[in-house]
Amino acid sequence: MSLLNVAKRAFTRPISSTVSVAPVVARQMHIQSIPMWEGSGNNYAYLVSDDKSRQAVIIDPANPSEVLPHLKKATDGGLKLTNIINTHHHHDHAGGNSEVLKSYPLPIIGGRDCDKVTKTPSHGETFTIGDGIKVKALHTPCHTQDSICYLFEDGNDRAVFTGDTLFIGGCGRFFEGNAQEMDKALNETLGALPDDTKVYPGHEYTKGNVKFGIKVLQSEPVKKLEAFTNANKQTQGKFTIGDEKNHNVFMRLDDPVIQKFTGKTERVDVMAALREAKNSM
Ligand SMILES: [Zn+2]
Repeated sequence: MSLLNVAKRAFTRPISSTVSVAPVVARQMHIQSIPMWEGSGNNYAYLVSDDKSRQAVIIDPANPSEVLPHLKKATDGGLKLTNIINTHHHHDHAGGNSEVLKSYPLPIIGGRDCDKVTKTPSHGETFTIGDGIKVKALHTPCHTQDSICYLFEDGNDRAVFTGDTLFIGGCGRFFEGNAQEMDKALNETLGALPDDTKVYPGHEYTKGNVKFGIKVLQSEPVKKLEAFTNANKQTQGKFTIGDEKNHNVFMRLDDPVIQKFTGKTERVDVMAALREAKNSM
């Protein structure tokens, strides 16, 4: 922040802080990140609640020993869990379902191959959490064929939970799909979301992603992401779809610098070459 901005902030701060003033628009969506397997898988589960109705969902509670204590605290405090949500079937995302069901017998919304899934929403299907949060399922097959990203909207507050499809500054491996499918998932389906949508991926992989990104594209946005990642251990929810379009090389397939790096010009070929180069890093 520049000195001028610091000064501006100081002058616009309310004079008295003894009277609490309600914000103009009440924010109802609350997102709690739950890191799992820190230092190895670096996964995230997310507890998302609607502050008004106190209804909540848990996304990818893959390691119950790390997640259940948070769920107990939340439900003891009055939150009502309504669903488990899974982004895809891999064990480090859906592998905790059976164990979580023993304490919380909830319906599971997820891709068709997720353990114990009760409902697979169709592409574009919506559902709500309480009165405040609208959720839209976005099918993004490639990393797995059953990959689903979920757009959560609370008024003007938007978040997308992207599993192993989109990471901050990167994307998932093409285990069950191809470069064309990942181009569609990232650049058509997720790329069509409003630029201010905050990104919550399934793993904290940003450090490795930007290490690759900076080799491909030495632009200001990539350098900024690198600096942020060096200073912050967690990056989930700190960047938006608009940011990804600038600093994520997998979302810049038409960028001449990236085309030159890959030696390709067709989008699908650029995507495939980027993924291969990242895999062999
Ligand atoms: Zn996965």
